Amino acid sequence: MLGKCAVCGKETEVTVCCSAFGAVSYAYCNHCLVNNLEPYEAMVADISCAGNFPEDINKPYQEFCRHILKELGISEEQFIEDVRKASKDLDEDYAMWCKENENEQYLGNYDDYFTF
Ligand SMILES: [Zn+2]
Repeated sequence: MLGKCAVCGKETEVTVCCSAFGAVSYAYCNHCLVNNLEPYEAMVADISCAGNFPEDINKPYQEFCRHILKELGISEEQFIEDVRKASKDLDEDYAMWCKENENEQYLGNYDDYFTF
């Protein structure tokens, strides 16, 4: 079907299929599909939930991210910065949620909260 590739933005024949970054589907053009590319925002969102890049990410996933960055022409420094920003936004959203739900206690970050 015709559509817009979620990775490169090209308007062309696309295939909709599941992303490697979570239970979500995107439209991929043939080039992005066969080269295992993913939308940049999806990669930033997914990695920021796991922690910082690259230290909190396992080797195969690091390589996968670097492959995508190289194909998209985005520097690793830019990616690290974007992951850090997304992670900060998550913490702020969580602090806000705790404020709105006063019986919950904000402990500073997700790791503290989910470690029993
Ligand atoms: Zn594409």
